[in-house]
Amino acid sequence: MIPFNKPPYLGTEEQYVLEAMHQSKISGDGNFSLKCQKWFEDKTKTKIALLTTSCTHALEMSALLIGLKEGDEVIMPSYTFVSTANAFALRGAKIVFVDIRPDTMNIDENKIEQAITSRTKAIIPVHYAGVACEMDTIMDIANRHNLVVIEDAAQGMMSTYKGRALGSIGHIGTYSFHETKNYTSGGEGGVIFINDDKYLDHAEIIREKGTNRNQFFRGQVDKYTWVELGSSYLPSELQAAYLYAQLLDADTINKDRLSSWNYYYQQLKPLQDQAKITLPIIPKGCIHNAHMFYIKTKDIQERTALLRYLKEQDILCVFHYVPLHSSTAGLKFGTFHAEDSFTTKESEAIIRLPMYYSLTQETQNKVIKYVSKFYQQIT
Ligand SMILES: *Cc1c(COP(=O)(O)O)cnc(C)c1O
Repeated sequence: MIPFNKPPYLGTEEQYVLEAMHQSKISGDGNFSLKCQKWFEDKTKTKIALLTTSCTHALEMSALLIGLKEGDEVIMPSYTFVSTANAFALRGAKIVFVDIRPDTMNIDENKIEQAITSRTKAIIPVHYAGVACEMDTIMDIANRHNLVVIEDAAQGMMSTYKGRALGSIGHIGTYSFHETKNYTSGGEGGVIFINDDKYLDHAEIIREKGTNRNQFFRGQVDKYTWVELGSSYLPSELQAAYLYAQLLDADTINKDRLSSWNYYYQQLKPLQDQAKITLPIIPKGCIHNAHMFYIKTKDIQERTALLRYLKEQDILCVFHYVPLHSSTAGLKFGTFHAEDSFTTKESEAIIRLPMYYSLTQETQNKVIKYVSKFYQQIT
């Protein structure tokens, strides 16, 4: 059986986790957490990186940070993971979904401005498959309308837009270290990037249960107490140690994934040339991280047939997402602005092929062979 995903694992994680277990402090913000945070600050040029228990929590932290209130509106694509919307709906915000571009499956930057109202507070671009949204346009719109930009870069670690790390461009950015992402902190985890000075102090407080504990430890206040709404968003040192091992070898993982991605692309190119499938598009100025390899079929019927066929060959492929505006909660907490020209249609055509660190060419050959065979059979 060819799995769809394998959690990234190098072998060096054990040594670091063991070391963490023997530290006198194993709760959040210990040695390994600080090392990881420093790594992200150096690598991405964000002002402050703070590890979180998940990307979902990093997004929830963002919603608290920007002081979102009941009735405020946030703009995002409908084609995204649940957490992107849920984090803001939790604070009573209305979710305004905007259509995607068919080439990258990212929010269509040219449809954002018409969705802005006097209640709009934030734009949440999602960098699908680790391929950047058109951030120059998005930041320009946000600046002109005085809106906050929170990048959901859950899939975007190691990717760049015009040389800048994803997550470091908006006012706030988030990554995920869930086991399905390119790097993991042992199954679950995330990080929040604070790129705008005005959120620095609040971020620390919100992440520490709404207390000024960090200021107290630095001797800036003489007692620590409850100062605002927050929660507990710190991962343990064991998780940070697991992640740290992978950060030290970040390029190894990235190169390996990119080479698998390029191999799929090369080998499946003939099918695209015959107009049978569509391959992913990486716009100029974007360097991606091979987070996923997807192909697009003609329509949902063809996709269902291909998925079934591959499963019969013991190859597990998946699709996602059910557009949020048509989900039960999406109908309750959001509305789709203007026309859904591409969100539903394009989301029904996507199949994600097996993609993980240490995927072998032999395994890829099997996947490629059966995808090709399927298209020979139906024509
Ligand atoms: C994975 C993912 C998340 C959630 O990440 P967790 O760390 O599992 O909470 C959010 N947004 C997007 C786009 C994702 O792909």
